[in-house]
Amino acid sequence: MASAQQIVVVGAGVSGLTSAVCLAEAGWPVRVWTAAMPQRTTSKVAGAVWLPPRPAERAGDTLDWTEHSLRVFRELATDPGSGVQLVPALAVGELTATEAMSAAAALIPDLRPADPSDLPDGFGNGFRATLPMIDMPHYLDYLTRRLAAAGCEIEEHPVRSLAEAADAAPIVVNCAGLAAGRLTGDDTLRPLFGQHVVLTNPGLRQLFLEINGGPEWTCYFPHPQRVVCGGISIPDRWDTTADPDVTERILHRCRRIEPRLADAELIETITGLRPDRPSVRVAAERLGPALCIHNYGHGGNGVTLSWGCARDVVRLAGQREAR
Ligand SMILES: Cc1cc2nc3c(=O)[nH]c(=O)nc-3n(C[C@H](O)[C@H](O)[C@H](O)COP(=O)(O)OP(=O)(O)OC[C@H]3O[C@@H](n4cnc5c(N)ncnc54)[C@H](O)[C@@H]3O)c2cc1C
Repeated sequence: MASAQQIVVVGAGVSGLTSAVCLAEAGWPVRVWTAAMPQRTTSKVAGAVWLPPRPAERAGDTLDWTEHSLRVFRELATDPGSGVQLVPALAVGELTATEAMSAAAALIPDLRPADPSDLPDGFGNGFRATLPMIDMPHYLDYLTRRLAAAGCEIEEHPVRSLAEAADAAPIVVNCAGLAAGRLTGDDTLRPLFGQHVVLTNPGLRQLFLEINGGPEWTCYFPHPQRVVCGGISIPDRWDTTADPDVTERILHRCRRIEPRLADAELIETITGLRPDRPSVRVAAERLGPALCIHNYGHGGNGVTLSWGCARDVVRLAGQREAR
């Protein structure tokens, strides 16, 4: 793409890095400008599991994005340096038979009902599957290395406005996460506070996830060196201070399901604000003489949707180039 125009990607979370990787590998000259480097983003806090968004969160192209990301994560799982693994998962709770039969669920090749005798006390319904689990600190490093290999460095460069980025490049990609609300004047973006308790891994392999649609649930993600335990979602809470009561509740719930976690050592408690929006925004609009491609508002599904959204960012950039 010899005539490709310079692109500035604003943001270095999973959305910004994945968009930048896809653009740079497609031949675009890309710079990433960010307020916080990858290891200090919300993305680092995610568990993280690839899982189709539940119906209430699904809109527009979500299914397509989810499917494309699954394909990429399955490939990445063959590279031990990526931080992505395919792991056995047990999901319990309010996953109805209808949901289990939905188009989104059909993406999961080995989704099957769990044997009732395998379910923890108090749960009458459960499913097993093999799912991509992403160790975010390692994965963000992997994306950063892949970006560097494509000739793109990440610059610590907070912008006051998207117009500031547009002064430096004819195409700007807005991956500012929750901050996109202020940068675009989008008042539909709001935080969903989340907190994880990170423990040493006592030898767990199976991911556990309770699906209940409520503000608190039980989940744990057993990465090689650590187990990430959750979960909670508090709408409109901007304060990112970890709540000790929440820590206690998470530990209590997770240890009830998996007693081996009782002896695991506490590594850290981490928090993050999911950038929630009624629907994910992947769209292009004019910004003076420049083109601004938005990619934000992924709520609790930013990792799941990342490769699909980034593919659309490349498509939208290509449409500008073709004009
Ligand atoms: C507890 C928790 C668990 C989660 N679990 C999962 C999961 O299992 N699966 C899943 O798919 N998702 C999960 N998520 C959701 C996922 O983490 C988010 O959807 C995703 O991280 C959003 O990524 P992002 O790149 O859009 O935003 P962010 O990671 O917030 O990155 C935004 C970037 O923009 C930069 N920025 C902001 N303002 C400016 C500015 N003015 N100038 C320059 N740069 C700026 C920031 O510094 C940052 O680099 C979870 C989230 C939380 C909090």
